[in-house]
Amino acid sequence: MRIDKLILLVLLAVFGPAQLGAQGVKVLTLEEAIKKDEGLPREQQDKYFPPHKVIGNLYYVGTAALSSYLVTTPDGHILINSTFERTVPLIRTSIEELGFRFEDIEIVLGSHAHDDHMEADALMKQLTGARVMAMDRDVPLLETIRPGGKKHPVDRVLRHLEEVKLGGSTVVAHRTPGHTPGNTAFTMKIEEGGRTYDVVIVGSMRLQGRTVLVNNKDYPNIVEDFVESFKYSRSLPCDIFLSSHPDKYNMAEKHANIGKGANPFLDPDGYLNELKNNEIVFNLKLEQQRKAGK
Ligand SMILES: [Zn+2]
Repeated sequence: MRIDKLILLVLLAVFGPAQLGAQGVKVLTLEEAIKKDEGLPREQQDKYFPPHKVIGNLYYVGTAALSSYLVTTPDGHILINSTFERTVPLIRTSIEELGFRFEDIEIVLGSHAHDDHMEADALMKQLTGARVMAMDRDVPLLETIRPGGKKHPVDRVLRHLEEVKLGGSTVVAHRTPGHTPGNTAFTMKIEEGGRTYDVVIVGSMRLQGRTVLVNNKDYPNIVEDFVESFKYSRSLPCDIFLSSHPDKYNMAEKHANIGKGANPFLDPDGYLNELKNNEIVFNLKLEQQRKAGK
């Protein structure tokens, strides 16, 4: 048992699995929030998942545990999350299965500078000629991700609220720091059936197990960044809730409900619930680290 999990279970025993809801939004119990925070087992990362349309010109082309999204346009595609180099063949298969050309990827974006989302940026650029764009404050960390010694490409540095446009589609990059200094949520407005939907693709609002919150010399403002990012994220309008890891929005369950009525990815409450769950676990870990630091 990992030590932080043990601590959380102790806290769970103290506080009890109370319903931690707020503002009428149904939230997981503390126990459920801790379990969900652990994520999917590693073997799921390399496992195929059926590619599918999310809404409009936005498609899921990732694996069972690593989200990749494709925004298709008449001028080529935007890929969000290149993932690992070893999972690129799965992304390629998924794109082709949907009837699109892998070589038509023009722009590569990423959720944040961790290898499970952005390791394959250089390979994607090599294979497709795409331009790689990354959030300003993640660039130093990205430069350390060099699979096979390849230099990490950054063709355009994005700032908070900058727009990425291609073939009539616009993706807006929102800096939501904490998980990494340049962690990014991407938003889009997509029309379908005469209605416009707000889409949010969360970077990650999860505090990693070993992350130091108190006196973190590499990232002194980490606590303030997390607190501000929770507040900021809650202010984003969200109809369609997506994330860099599919389990965060219960993708498999929603995928099984495609075609059975309303679009299953329509889940504004799910978005707020997940933020709340992340915040609960963050606050518990912060409290624990502050106590241990005394
Ligand atoms: Zn990460």
